[in-house]
Amino acid sequence: MQKQRLTAVYAAAMLRSIFALILTLGMIGPVSAEDLVPTPDLILSGTLTGADHQTYRELAFKVPARTKQITVAFSYTGQAQKSVIDLGLRDPQRFRGWSGGNKSEFTLSEASATPSYLPGPLPKGVWHLVLGVPNMRPKAEAAYEARIWFDRPAPSPAQPEALVWLRGDLHMHTAHSDGTCLSKAGKRVACPVFRTLEAAAARGLDFISVTDHNTTSQANSLKELAPYFDGLILIPGREITTFQGHANLFGTEAPLDFRLGSKAVPDFAALADQVQATGGLLSINHPAMPSGEVCMGCGWSLSSTDYGRVGAMEVVNGGGLAIAGGRADGLFSGIKAWEAALNAGFRLTGIGGSDNHDPGLDPSKPSAIGVPTTVVGAQGRDGPSILEAIRLGHVFIDVDGSRTLGLRVSARSGDRTVIMGDVLTVSPGAGVVITVAVAGLESPQIRFSGPLAEQIRAVAGTGAGEQKFELDKISGPTWIRVDVLAPDGRLVLIGNPIYLKPAGPAGVAP
Ligand SMILES: [Zn+2]
Ligand SMILES: [Zn+2]
Repeated sequence: MQKQRLTAVYAAAMLRSIFALILTLGMIGPVSAEDLVPTPDLILSGTLTGADHQTYRELAFKVPARTKQITVAFSYTGQAQKSVIDLGLRDPQRFRGWSGGNKSEFTLSEASATPSYLPGPLPKGVWHLVLGVPNMRPKAEAAYEARIWFDRPAPSPAQPEALVWLRGDLHMHTAHSDGTCLSKAGKRVACPVFRTLEAAAARGLDFISVTDHNTTSQANSLKELAPYFDGLILIPGREITTFQGHANLFGTEAPLDFRLGSKAVPDFAALADQVQATGGLLSINHPAMPSGEVCMGCGWSLSSTDYGRVGAMEVVNGGGLAIAGGRADGLFSGIKAWEAALNAGFRLTGIGGSDNHDPGLDPSKPSAIGVPTTVVGAQGRDGPSILEAIRLGHVFIDVDGSRTLGLRVSARSGDRTVIMGDVLTVSPGAGVVITVAVAGLESPQIRFSGPLAEQIRAVAGTGAGEQKFELDKISGPTWIRVDVLAPDGRLVLIGNPIYLKPAGPAGVAP
């Protein structure tokens, strides 16, 4: 213990991190994902010796005010001599957990924590990383290093060249709100989060968002389940549930006051300001559902809505789909409300959500997990990339959650080609060629939507797999969109818009 030294190095100490990086590179060769991790705010390092055998040591560190997340990564040398260092944590008031020798990294926030640790407020002040030393041979030495981050940003993932198309469900409920299922004894009970993830994994989904009503208390269960469901990307979510409508907020666990119409949140702008502060993505749910005593606050009836501050709209809701006998363009369809916003000049991504309230539902039925499925073309296989793809509109909806149906739409004018969600600039007098490819469906019927839909003509001689269409000209900013119908006329795929705008000074973005 006499040899122990404690150093606190703040972010400004660049020299040290550069040295550490050189050391790491030298040891392991090519750049690993670890090297993409941002520089720690604090490093606690020192050496333990045989004198520390079966003792505890506390390393003090200061947590700044308003910290929302603490991450600790711990490493030490001497394993060859059977040296063992255990790990725990204390905040200024209470013990926050003990992971012994079973975790080298953990994270705590208000809503969730790595198993072994307790989520909750992160008070400013002096915290202690608690080291336990079950074994240290008399002559052994172990150098340890604890790297600590406050509000560590996610490492920026490597960007692949091509989009990866991922299938997921963006709306579901568990025991953390009104999700239920049958217990082992056959009683209807509040349904544990585990069952929802099992159903999503069984369906082969790539991502889900568990969106309980006005809470993120499910986040802690998700943190425990994430390593087990390693094929499933878990996107933080909640359903902001108000008297004037429901909207999902994706990508954040931060607290948010949902009480629209109260003094605290008088109107849509007050809600949108809060959303903006979290950095999350807001999506209006089931806009055309009825409101009132049939379904409290279900339809979107908020006249102060600025659609410029909304990222997406749930065009197909599993519950609505069930009521309409599986018809995505039937009763309670969100397509009309969506297209009205598009016609008003807003760029709004159409998505789907099962709104599942029971993961035991027959998987072929609407509102089962994955019915409908939202398919996104993302730059990476991670939550932030999926949300960015939704913001961009690189999305189509697979109404039945087929797993196999695919839709690619692109538009070309001059030498520019864009895909769903993008803006295409069209020169005066130039036409637009639209290419539509449908996978997994014999004889699909392609139907265009948008103000110019009736002026779009099929190009003769194309077909089978990929079909081409032409539009002669546009006269102002507009949008086009593709729906795909099965041979029986039922709507099975819903494409997002491509936005067209004239080149030149008149070409103000819609
Ligand atoms: Zn709802
Ligand atoms: Zn819901």
